Amino acid sequence: MPHIHHSTCPVCFSAAIQFCTRVQDHAVTKEWFELWSCADCKALFTQDIPDPSTIAAYYHSENYISHTDTRKGLLFKAYHAARWLALRRKYLLIRKAFHTYVPTWEMHALQTQPSVLDIGCGTGSFLHMMQRHGWQVTGIEPSETARNIAKKKYQLDVQDPIQLNTFPDQHFTLITLWHVLEHIHALHENLSTIYRLLHPYGLVFIAVPNYTSFDERFFGNYWAAYDVPRHLYHFAPQTMQLLLVSHRFELVKILPMRMDAFYIAWLSSQYARQRLPFAYGMMTGFISWLLSQHHPMQSSSLLYIARKYGAD
Ligand SMILES: [Zn+2]
Repeated sequence: MPHIHHSTCPVCFSAAIQFCTRVQDHAVTKEWFELWSCADCKALFTQDIPDPSTIAAYYHSENYISHTDTRKGLLFKAYHAARWLALRRKYLLIRKAFHTYVPTWEMHALQTQPSVLDIGCGTGSFLHMMQRHGWQVTGIEPSETARNIAKKKYQLDVQDPIQLNTFPDQHFTLITLWHVLEHIHALHENLSTIYRLLHPYGLVFIAVPNYTSFDERFFGNYWAAYDVPRHLYHFAPQTMQLLLVSHRFELVKILPMRMDAFYIAWLSSQYARQRLPFAYGMMTGFISWLLSQHHPMQSSSLLYIARKYGAD
């Protein structure tokens, strides 16, 4: 299979990179991959990754529920209930962020309907919720199965990633990537496109796993959010800060996404073959959640809110 070998850091292009550890693809193929680290931007990255034409084979799993919406079993029901709460929280965060960081927001919102582009929208539950709150919504999703579900279930406008280049400049008030940036091969091209598509008073929301989190420390190589080779990059807060600034974004806020610790710890417990994976996962998830109350930058995932540099 064609692989891509990084001879420099894929995030900051530094040559100061070295082998760090080996991690298994627990979710799908059981293949092993190397994690390398960058001394300059503190990124970890998956080495010798499948290229864009072959990565799809690594997404073939019933466990990849974000794309299929299965509702079997009590734990999946609990997961879906938790996801509904997480969706609600996302909306409240967005509303608060616009009121806080866009002083002219009220005026703009009165003049035009706000629009959101969700990149990697999966089956569209986030966009569906935004639509119900009066937003004009557009989705980008590489999986055809997920696109069809989003169209059928919520009648959403969801398009193939190739369509990103067809949108006009400054078209969107909000661009969101919920656990998506770490999956994108063309990292820098996509960030440039996001910059182009974002309105001058718009905001971009990027949520990614945090490898400097407490739950990573509990599980090490079994930490489920390494999710190799699907996760191509593993970001520290410092890495994301540098990456956003290099693309002319101004970081306005980093918010902890502490609840992600429960799901990640539950999955990690399964990978580590704990005898009671659910109980062990909830316990370690809770400890991570609790510790991150005082150390928010070490929570399981982090949400980066940014705007164009120099925006008011
Ligand atoms: Zn780097």
